[in-house]
Amino acid sequence: MRLIILAPPGGGKGTQASRLSDQYNIPQVETGKILRQAVQEGSQLGKDAKSYMSSGNLVPDEIMIEIIRNRFAEADCQAGFILDGFPRTLQQARALDKLLDEQEVELDAVIYLNVPVAVIQERLSRRRVCSDCGATYHLDTKPPGQTGICDSCQGELIQRSDDREEAIEQRLKQYSSKTEPLLEFYQDKGVLLEIDGAQSISRVESAIDTALTESQ
Ligand code: AMP
Repeated sequence: MRLIILAPPGGGKGTQASRLSDQYNIPQVETGKILRQAVQEGSQLGKDAKSYMSSGNLVPDEIMIEIIRNRFAEADCQAGFILDGFPRTLQQARALDKLLDEQEVELDAVIYLNVPVAVIQERLSRRRVCSDCGATYHLDTKPPGQTGICDSCQGELIQRSDDREEAIEQRLKQYSSKTEPLLEFYQDKGVLLEIDGAQSISRVESAIDTALTESQ
């Protein structure tokens, strides 16, 4: 399976990508996580990406395309993948097409989680993430068993710096100007599966499963 999951920030792509990764036994390639790790390690990539990320802006295309090119070269991506957070611009989508052509493989589907802006703002402001493993929680709909502690690794739960109000606004602007045009791009290729992402997590899961089965 070669999948892309596309959604506005806070649209639930991480949650669904992680589940699909288990279900199809394919790696979840999460560019936001790769970047956050680089920032934490203080690598050159992290230094280059940090200010874009904390202000809610997109990291430049050349950097992102290079990350994906390197990640695709790893053995676990040969049998498939789910891209979570990439592509986010038309330039990235065209570069991805080129990479897939070079490998003579095709995308199976682009899963688009459609979520209204009001729902996103609420979800992001109530989101908490594990500072160790990156697992995500929502204070109301997916709370941890113990307040402030990650269920899977006991790490500390924190609010991401880009989940602050000003950064959320900027991320939403970037999404509508740079990422939304991808919907038409993939619609034209006949691979876009639109899912109502405002439903509960389990309903979104079954809607994705049905759409994927029907598309095959
Ligand atoms: P995410 O965890 O997917 O919300 O990503 C967090 C931040 O990482 C984004 O707000 C961007 O600053 C950066 N980022 C992640 N993926 C990309 C991408 N494909 N292109 C540009 N910036 C990205």
